[in-house]
Amino acid sequence: MAKHPKNRTDRQIRKGVTQKQSINPNAAQHFLRHKRKQHPLSYYVDGILASDRVILGQAITLIESTALAHQDLAQQIIEACLPNSGQSIRIGITGTPGVGKSTFIEAFGTQLIQSGKRIAALAVDPTSQVTKGSILGDKTRMEMLSTDTNAFIRPSPAGDSLGGVARKTREAIILCEAAAYDTIIIETVGVGQSETAVHSMVDFFLLLLLPGAGDELQGIKRGIVEMADLVVVNKSDGDRQTLARQTKRAYQNALHLFPTKESQWSPKVVTASALQKEGIQEIWEKIQDFYTQMTTSNYFQQHRDDQAIYWLHESIRQQLSASFYGQAAIKEQLIKMEQKILAKQYSPFKAADELLQFWRKSF
Ligand code: GDP
Repeated sequence: MAKHPKNRTDRQIRKGVTQKQSINPNAAQHFLRHKRKQHPLSYYVDGILASDRVILGQAITLIESTALAHQDLAQQIIEACLPNSGQSIRIGITGTPGVGKSTFIEAFGTQLIQSGKRIAALAVDPTSQVTKGSILGDKTRMEMLSTDTNAFIRPSPAGDSLGGVARKTREAIILCEAAAYDTIIIETVGVGQSETAVHSMVDFFLLLLLPGAGDELQGIKRGIVEMADLVVVNKSDGDRQTLARQTKRAYQNALHLFPTKESQWSPKVVTASALQKEGIQEIWEKIQDFYTQMTTSNYFQQHRDDQAIYWLHESIRQQLSASFYGQAAIKEQLIKMEQKILAKQYSPFKAADELLQFWRKSF
């Protein structure tokens, strides 16, 4: 087995908690290409199964890599880990910037670790592709949790599409589960379609809100509240407690108006203070209630199976689209077709048919 100086381990773990470093794909590529030789498959698989955080991190870096050799190896690692995956609860957490997501994950994760759990916290941040900065990660996050050996914290992968980022995260979940993390937290921020993507990879979806303002004012998009299995009115401390209780009642009423969920779970609303570590236990109890109810009804497994099939089709859609739009000749043809459509020489449908025919001939 290759040498792993302890200091490198620590540095890497600390590196992993700040978004800036890891959202730079070039840096990751550079690191892989120049500083570290690629190890054989058994190195990664054995390391992951032995819950080695450094090797798990290295394997996820391979998943995130755009180099073909890395992607091949990453797929082999995922395949080898698959039989050992799935033994977890996957919790999605969303809420607007500043609502207290990282403070909550820190408090929640620390408490769970104290009760013997192992936490992996991953992030899906679509802003990392647009601005190369990010909403989730401009600060050092979850400092205490990230130093705990029973926690694995990983910032959002970068990518040129949300689909790509989501796929990498979904693959990373498999590796984290194989590394015996039994509670997987996927954090996202209310931007773009990221909540929907996260919702389709988790068992339980938790929405953090602030006391007072309605969801539109809080920048929560329509449909997000409907997805929630649990709404947490955070920052219920100091002089905000009365307001927080009012907000809780308002959301309880609002949730009643939504149609019954397929899972038959009726979503709950609680108040909490992540900062004061209050309400955390109640949240965990709600999640456990959910888990018991879902496993008893067998919905838990059925939902995961549905998600796996969804990701099969989603992945095909993404790859077909990338293969089509990625071709230089298609890009050229597309410009011409757009002009023809605007000049009313071609209908969009005829143009699409011709482009697809052109594409098929390229195989
Ligand atoms: P994120 O952007 O959603 O991850 O939010 P952070 O966890 O970074 O929190 C944003 C700010 O709100 C920080 O200054 C936190 O200390 C503060 N904060 C988070 N949770 C609470 C809470 O429960 N009560 C109070 N009073 N402040 C909180």
